[in-house]
Amino acid sequence: MCGIVGYVGKRDAAPVLVEGLHRLEYRGYDSAGLAVLHRGRLQVTKTAGRVQDLRDKLKSNTKATLGIGHTRWATHGEPNEINAHPHTDTAGRIAVVHNGIIENAEHLRAQLQGNGVRLVSDTDTEPLAHMIAAELAAAEASTGDADGADTVGVSLEEAVMRTLRHVEGAYGLVVLDTKHPDQLVVARNGSPIVLGLGEDEMFVASDVAALVRYTRQVIYLEDGEVATIRATDYRTTMLNGGQANKQVRTPTTVDADADDYDLGTYQDYMRKEIHEQPDALRRALLGRLDDRFATARLGGINLDARDLRNIRQIKFLGCGSAYYAGQMGAMIIEELARIPADAEPASEFRYRSPVVDPDTLYVAVSQSGETSDTLMAVQELKRKGGQVIGAVNVVGSAIGRECGRGIFLHAGPEVAVASTKALTNMAVSFALLGLLLGRVRDLSAASGHRIISGLRNLPEQVNKILHNEEEIATIAHRFAQAEHMFYIGRVRGWPVAREGAQKLKEISYVHAEAYQAGELKHGPLALIHRDMPSVVIIPSDDLVAKNVSTIEQIKARGGPVIALASAEIPEGLADAVIKVPRAEPELEPILLNVPLQILAYHTAAKLGRDIDKPRNLAKSVTVE
Ligand code: GLU
Repeated sequence: MCGIVGYVGKRDAAPVLVEGLHRLEYRGYDSAGLAVLHRGRLQVTKTAGRVQDLRDKLKSNTKATLGIGHTRWATHGEPNEINAHPHTDTAGRIAVVHNGIIENAEHLRAQLQGNGVRLVSDTDTEPLAHMIAAELAAAEASTGDADGADTVGVSLEEAVMRTLRHVEGAYGLVVLDTKHPDQLVVARNGSPIVLGLGEDEMFVASDVAALVRYTRQVIYLEDGEVATIRATDYRTTMLNGGQANKQVRTPTTVDADADDYDLGTYQDYMRKEIHEQPDALRRALLGRLDDRFATARLGGINLDARDLRNIRQIKFLGCGSAYYAGQMGAMIIEELARIPADAEPASEFRYRSPVVDPDTLYVAVSQSGETSDTLMAVQELKRKGGQVIGAVNVVGSAIGRECGRGIFLHAGPEVAVASTKALTNMAVSFALLGLLLGRVRDLSAASGHRIISGLRNLPEQVNKILHNEEEIATIAHRFAQAEHMFYIGRVRGWPVAREGAQKLKEISYVHAEAYQAGELKHGPLALIHRDMPSVVIIPSDDLVAKNVSTIEQIKARGGPVIALASAEIPEGLADAVIKVPRAEPELEPILLNVPLQILAYHTAAKLGRDIDKPRNLAKSVTVE
């Protein structure tokens, strides 16, 4: 989940690496470090702080043209300077940056220690540096090739491959060898690695965000693939396939540019991304609404009318907000298509030996397309013959490739850890899927037209909500000191409540719990008192009266209520009201979610939280 960057070319490498790390900081940010090759020697700089601290610490006099860098999200060993990457071997010949978890690290560490190697860090990564160095030394000793030249000895790539054969676990890896000053060796197994092709220079990163400033021509490595990159060329090979698989692959052009990653006038990415939602929604709908047949066009799912009719059930799999988006999707699909639909956390699904039904369409949902649990769920499904499509925001990502078909979210790069525009685009994409499935079944053309016009209205309606930001901020400030909050919803409001509570928790660290309104009196009502505010969600459906009485029950026990309503509710009923424009009823969850992003954002801002980088979290969770 960390950030990895590497550079080989003509430029001064350190600033390129720092700039790349800065762009990747959102992926992991407990410590940072880089290693460059300066006058034949490794120069390593590390900090337990942020990338800015690393920048301040760097010596300005290096003119290295080869280097690697890392921002860490610790899995083994606390986030201090020693455990920060890059890690080196004892002689300082090899430097390694690693993303992921080496599962047999304990065994490898014990083996090295048994051979007299002194390990300085607590990480699962450091053993790799020692093992690669040992492979090189052994091969050079046997060929008498002390310079490590490829022609007679073993190549760096071969040494890395030999090492990886002893390694179990997930990794994205970049290796620098001081005796191979013209190249880096990279490898991928379960953690994303992308090569960036420049003019007489080559980049590597764990995410295109680090590359778009320099190049938009990229190659996504496959699992089990290893590559050697030099300034002017690269070669990839499969770990188990030997030399025969050496190949040059056709690069993909990234559909984002550097501006997409700039903050512009915003202070943080989350607020920027909240405000980008009307445009993101327009992109998600572009070319996908079919007025003639009152349906949706989703060519990427590769299912014709007959296939669509044969689907008996829909199941969404995702983690965190992607799971809640799936819940929203399931609700919309059941309503529009009358097909049973539900959502399950991918992290549960993959481990519980699920019954895979061939007539169910599984939808794997992930912003990054790299979420490890979701990817594993997809692999489990494929192994059992299930049909699965992806819903991802990053073209070329692992889940997108593994599924081979799906719905591209078109949200544009999402940098803030807390998902906003990607989640909205997930929900709207599932509404399109519901429309399509509905129209091959019993949804009338008139209803199809109604949903289409409802979808078309969404961007402007979100705009209206955004214009209301200040009012929502005032409410957020009023309740920001609460230690606990309830988010209450029923039916269409229920997934909205869950996602709203999640958003508040993750960025403001205020404990928030979502509850179905009808369940309140079966236990949690005991917690209601004057310091326990509840956000009650009131869509404009036929349950308004029920939701009003939920508010009354809470008020009767002295609990403050923030009503989030697209429906009309009695004046003075709630302590604060956030009004949401009325939409087509089935689509309302998509709209109701947006004010809760704003509420969470301004609560976190009031509490002085680091909004884009909430503690302990990282974007794109590529570990289990
Ligand atoms: N497992 C490695 C560590 O704890 C890498 C973690 C990461 O992906 O940042 O150092």
